[in-house]
Amino acid sequence: MSRVVVPENFRRESELGARLQNAERLLIALDFDGTISPLVARPEDARALPATARLLRKLDELAAATVASARPTFLALVSGRDIASLQVVAEPGEHSFLVGSHGAELRTPVTANLDPAVPLTEAQRELLATVTEVLESVQSKSPGSFLEYKTLSTVLHTRGMGTEEASGAVVMAEKALASLNGVSLNGVSLKHGKEILEAAVAHSSKGEGLIWLREQTGADCLLFAGDDVTDEQGFAALKAGQDVTVKVGSGETIAEFRIYGPESLPALLQLVLDVRS
Ligand SMILES: [Mg+2]
Repeated sequence: MSRVVVPENFRRESELGARLQNAERLLIALDFDGTISPLVARPEDARALPATARLLRKLDELAAATVASARPTFLALVSGRDIASLQVVAEPGEHSFLVGSHGAELRTPVTANLDPAVPLTEAQRELLATVTEVLESVQSKSPGSFLEYKTLSTVLHTRGMGTEEASGAVVMAEKALASLNGVSLNGVSLKHGKEILEAAVAHSSKGEGLIWLREQTGADCLLFAGDDVTDEQGFAALKAGQDVTVKVGSGETIAEFRIYGPESLPALLQLVLDVRS
């Protein structure tokens, strides 16, 4: 059972505070949608809560100020979005690491301003086109649903539909994909999230993304906060009792700690600033 942490418990002397304070090299890794930003009907409208945006800028400054010190604090955004979309909605600082497309796209702060390379082979490109056609057909038969086109995947969103219609659309999509003639789906990974079905042609997970971040930063303590089922692979990649795993909102989780929602995140980020500045 994860412990629910309310803002009043975000104290230096709490175990959470002690772990963040005692770390030599600390990395703060945050999911975007549902963690930094409240969930919204249209993905392009998502933005950080104002208090969170202000604290992320401060953490980005702290990362710049401490990078060469004995006690650096690093910041990373870890999202299912592709990096191009993440840069638009999250407006990350230039000292932040970016992990996009569930870990398939990785950017260090130095290269964060370069165009994201498209790591697709010709075969993956064709496979993505085929999968997208199938999802377009399902979408056209499912009023209220819509598609999101990403660099490495296509996403069926069912947020605007009734519960029954939504699960019906997801089942229809799975069946249509499974019955594709002469197309091997070995290269496709289907991810189920909150009111989404994502068909991706590059394999990765947030866990692999976090492992890459740990290698890049040499962090001995990694805090990861996320709200969705895909974040569980991120929690699973971390070390119990040493790292800090934070589930945002309700739902089953293997995370050690839990906060109520994106509105609780500023207090947690303020604690990080208090113990690391
Ligand atoms: Mg999320």
